[in-house]
Amino acid sequence: MATSKKDETFYPGPSRSHLAAFPPKERWDDWTELDSRAWPKRKERHYSLVPTTCFNCESACGLLAYIDKVTGEVQKFEGNPEHPGSRGRNCAKGPATLNQVTDPDRILYPLKRAGSRGEGKWERCSWDQALDDIASRIRKAIVEDRRDEVMYHVGRPGEDGFTERILAAWGIDGHNSHTNICSSGSREGYQLWMGLDRPSPDHANAKVILLISAHLESGHYFNPHAQRVIDGKANGAKLIVFDTRLSHTATHADYWVAPYPGSEAAILLAIANYLIQNDLYDRTFVETWWNWKEYLAVEHPEVDTNFSNYARLLKDEYAKYTFEFAAQESGVEAKVIAEIAQLVATAGTRFSSHNWRSVASGVSGGWTVARCLFMLNALLGAIATEGGVYPNAWNKFVPRPIYTPPHPKMWNETTWPREYPLSMNEMSFLLPHFLKDGRAKLDTYFTRVYNPVWTNPDGFSWIEMLTDPNLVGCYVALTPTWNETAYYADYVLPMGVGSERHDLHSYETHDSQWLGFRQPVMKALRQREGQQINDTREVNPGEVWEENEFWLELTWRIDPDGSLGIRQYAESQKNPGTRLGIDEYYEWIFENSVPGLPEKAAAENLTPLAFMRRYGAFEVKQKIGKLYDQVVGPEELEDTREDLLGRVFTRAAKPTGPNIVPLPLPEGDEDGRRFAGIKVNGEIKRGFPTPSGRLEFYSTTLSNWGWPELAIPSYFKSHVHPDNLQAGQTILISTFRLPVQIHTRSANAKWLDEIAHTNPLWIHPAHAAEIQVITGDLLRVETDIGYYVVPAWVTEGIRPGIVACSHHMGRWKLTDEGQRQLMATVKLKRQETKWALRREKGVEPYQSEDADTLRIWWKDAGVHQNMTFPVHPDPISGMHCWHQAVRVRVARPGDQPGDIFVDTQKSREVYKKWLALARPADKYSPDGSRRPYWMLRPLKPAREFYKLS
Ligand code: SF4
Repeated sequence: MATSKKDETFYPGPSRSHLAAFPPKERWDDWTELDSRAWPKRKERHYSLVPTTCFNCESACGLLAYIDKVTGEVQKFEGNPEHPGSRGRNCAKGPATLNQVTDPDRILYPLKRAGSRGEGKWERCSWDQALDDIASRIRKAIVEDRRDEVMYHVGRPGEDGFTERILAAWGIDGHNSHTNICSSGSREGYQLWMGLDRPSPDHANAKVILLISAHLESGHYFNPHAQRVIDGKANGAKLIVFDTRLSHTATHADYWVAPYPGSEAAILLAIANYLIQNDLYDRTFVETWWNWKEYLAVEHPEVDTNFSNYARLLKDEYAKYTFEFAAQESGVEAKVIAEIAQLVATAGTRFSSHNWRSVASGVSGGWTVARCLFMLNALLGAIATEGGVYPNAWNKFVPRPIYTPPHPKMWNETTWPREYPLSMNEMSFLLPHFLKDGRAKLDTYFTRVYNPVWTNPDGFSWIEMLTDPNLVGCYVALTPTWNETAYYADYVLPMGVGSERHDLHSYETHDSQWLGFRQPVMKALRQREGQQINDTREVNPGEVWEENEFWLELTWRIDPDGSLGIRQYAESQKNPGTRLGIDEYYEWIFENSVPGLPEKAAAENLTPLAFMRRYGAFEVKQKIGKLYDQVVGPEELEDTREDLLGRVFTRAAKPTGPNIVPLPLPEGDEDGRRFAGIKVNGEIKRGFPTPSGRLEFYSTTLSNWGWPELAIPSYFKSHVHPDNLQAGQTILISTFRLPVQIHTRSANAKWLDEIAHTNPLWIHPAHAAEIQVITGDLLRVETDIGYYVVPAWVTEGIRPGIVACSHHMGRWKLTDEGQRQLMATVKLKRQETKWALRREKGVEPYQSEDADTLRIWWKDAGVHQNMTFPVHPDPISGMHCWHQAVRVRVARPGDQPGDIFVDTQKSREVYKKWLALARPADKYSPDGSRRPYWMLRPLKPAREFYKLS
């Protein structure tokens, strides 16, 4: 059949991509390729192609497993062209899923501790044994009302709310996340403006793109965003990158500026000031959508409430943020900042921007960077516009599940302490200190895809906590691979990697809504062939399970007779009295709560579940547009009341149904009405999910909860501002990621390890000359609680005077049990609160069922720098502020690469110093609550438990 030029160039599926090499979906049952190893013979290999979702970062890109029809094994993973977010493309970590599947060192069976914690002695146990023991502990804690002693601590969630609902079913407020060591800084800044905590930038259609993150190598939604940044550039967009270090993103920039770390907000405010002073902002948008009236009412009650007064006062307010001021703070030339400001002013509503991690996770007040960046969008009206930035929840689709258990009737003070009422997420990294303080203890503690001993700051305090049975009764590590924390577990339970488990995903990759389905590919294939598979353990290696089934089974066993009211949330609706199966769970969702999917599936003669198993993703809607500007229909307005701010409240029931975009709303009024929208030019519009319903230039939340001086976007000196450093100290940037590593889970991804397996200290030639070192010389980096030893890498890719060392490295193991391709074997020594770690053996070739393990040529595994960092909780966002004030010296005789020394007594002192900076709810809450109810919070407790007791 003849094909047109267009057919040859574009893949016809939702990727709408230029790549022509994707297998057309009609041929996924029998895809033929030539066997490269048989060359020069033309030997055909036949594959079944089965989609799943990558689990190696949070982007949730689509993968296609090529399952050899003869061997029955996955030969490779490539991109899924039917996936609207990733459009058939992946980074190196996607295909490396295969390394994780075939990892010769992976954990294949449930293990129970045989010696003392950390001793490294294990015995195999059955899943039944582990489940019964853990379930009986949890049941006892629930019955005895010790529900705050059960905690689930997640690193990479990789799903949208499944486990939160399990915890809600148990009636516990036991969710703990890694977010406060990851992205809370940015989230706080965005949430204060728009009520939602992430931006969804439309890079591909932008005229100007401003990034304060390393998006082309490791930023949030890395591959989906990176490809759209490049699309934008190809369309003529100018790219501005702020990064103290020359990241891959910076190498693609039209303007790369390397500011003094923590000064970024000063530059952004200077740009904002330029727009304000020169009337280059969108006056109509600002007048309509900003909550400027609240600002005038509180800060300038002496003037009439009109926009002219506000515009005049705005000029006064920001006049101090001159280019010269920004230059002085950042070390970037004033004329360069001026050029950038002029460029931003040309973008109009096609200004896309993003700040994720980077400085927002580095310095105290890092949240102000995201807040000041978003201010530029808010000034230009570049919000929910083509080429602008959308609030994340509008570009994301989370379907309604089969069961929604009620909000837990409790408040867990260990994760949500009263000192941090405005924290973006759980104060997870303070857990060892809270337990040592005697605030709480844990009966049953789960970690899932999380390795706090290695990932968190202050890892030795975590070891001290985990090895004290009075603080932690039973620790269960749910993990596909060995990790530093799992060594201290009571149970190590093997969980599937990306191609061995079910999850649902949706992310704000662009202006659309899509749903991705992760699935065990061998199960999907067998089902396609007509076989019945009831449990992923039937198709996974060893006894590797998936978490969905694990949690449902555990829930069932916690309440076997249903008397606690828990079992009902794990019960089949089709066969009452039996446990809910995974097929029924997803079948229900795909049939009942994904608009358009049943019709699309029926058109191919498939059930919705079979459609998702076959294609792995579904595009729910394109072009969401300006939800804030939507007119609220009369059916949603009943017995309304309008307040002085133009907020309209209604007694009409909340609209429900599959077409409703999830939109958290401001609180209702005292009469029990709910927020309906805001009055704009005589019409009621949906507005933004903030307390005012508008974009919040002025945060009444900050003002009312003890931070009036920060109520509007502003700049203040961070904990590593030059004024706060001692003589001889410099700044260490420790947060940047290696593009081909995956925190804990890539330690045996051999293709990735070969590319990146070390983390030397980036140091500028001028700085290196000053301390007389060259590349490879050993340095001691001294923090407030200890030091680490690392080789120097002299490079011009870093701002002079600042040093940087990447995350992802320094993996270690205490015994031979572990991922041997990137974990060094170390010895730990302890003398009371003083800890030392020394490498005994680097990485070496070894014999295994994978012949490549004998070809390992690298020895280094880098240094575990996070161990030497004390906790730095930002008093507002709760974010751990990663940047460290350090002294960098030439190593001493006897120092060895990877050496670590820490005194946990000192880490206690630093913890107390930062804790004292907090403004607790007891003293500052304006209404006797623990936290503003409107603020986002995973697993919200019932409303009455927001009251301080
Ligand atoms: S960006 Fe890479 S690691 Fe992340 S989901 Fe996509 S392919 Fe996987």
